Amino acid sequence: MERKLRVTVWNEFRHEKNSRTVGGIYPLGIHGAIKQYLDGFPELEVTLAALDDPDQGLPASVLDSTDVLIWWGHMAHGEVSDDLVYRIQRRVYMGKMGFIALHSAHHSKPFRALVGTSGNLTWGREQKEIMWNLLPSHPIARGIPQSFYIESEELYAEPFFVPQPDELIFGSWYEDGYIFRAGMTFLRDQGRIFYFQPGHESCRSFYDPNVLKVIYNAVLWTAPSEGRYEYRDLCPHVISDADYDRCVAEGRELGNKIRPVKTVIGYGAAAVAETDR
Ligand code: ZN
Repeated sequence: MERKLRVTVWNEFRHEKNSRTVGGIYPLGIHGAIKQYLDGFPELEVTLAALDDPDQGLPASVLDSTDVLIWWGHMAHGEVSDDLVYRIQRRVYMGKMGFIALHSAHHSKPFRALVGTSGNLTWGREQKEIMWNLLPSHPIARGIPQSFYIESEELYAEPFFVPQPDELIFGSWYEDGYIFRAGMTFLRDQGRIFYFQPGHESCRSFYDPNVLKVIYNAVLWTAPSEGRYEYRDLCPHVISDADYDRCVAEGRELGNKIRPVKTVIGYGAAAVAETDR
């Protein structure tokens, strides 16, 4: 059997403990509600992590065995350690882990570090939201109708200061007349990132079947793809075959030294003659 996809759902997990209302809506925590849904898919192995866990929930043993990291944070973004943020960013950039930022994670350190902007936006009262499916052919929109209602969500509005997304999949309209780019992808180095708007702590969006389906689809889409080439976090330096062989013979550290591509792919004299014809 193929290896399961290892998903870690990270939650700040403070509102649920500090507010009876939020605790009542999400007795298992926001991360627990997401896990409860994802546990229905046998190909996934879902782990919970929270800010107040040892090593902020993501010691190397957990982070280094996570294929997709889902992130929800709000009131304690500043407490997340910069070292952890760096390790998350490198793992995503290296194509070893996908990243899904939910709702107020637009201001989280890992999301900002990954996309490179402030993530600032306009926000307001809870109200009815219509989520429009703008890119139905995208795998993340699979099984999602043309539009769906969310009875009550926090208003998030443009301008949303993120880089131009690689793909804009969902757009929101709110009762107060505002619009928002609610579901977007970003490709960074070899990594895949998805941002999705719903999920205010005092709303019930993480029980909404469409919202949950989008999160599941995003897990599959952001997961590292099989068969990608080995990518190292450096800029390789091409040296001659003779120098390369000398390094190997002398047992010297190869570091970022690589052979000319014509050697690697067997682009020899015969191929040159063929191309020149
Ligand atoms: Zn919120």
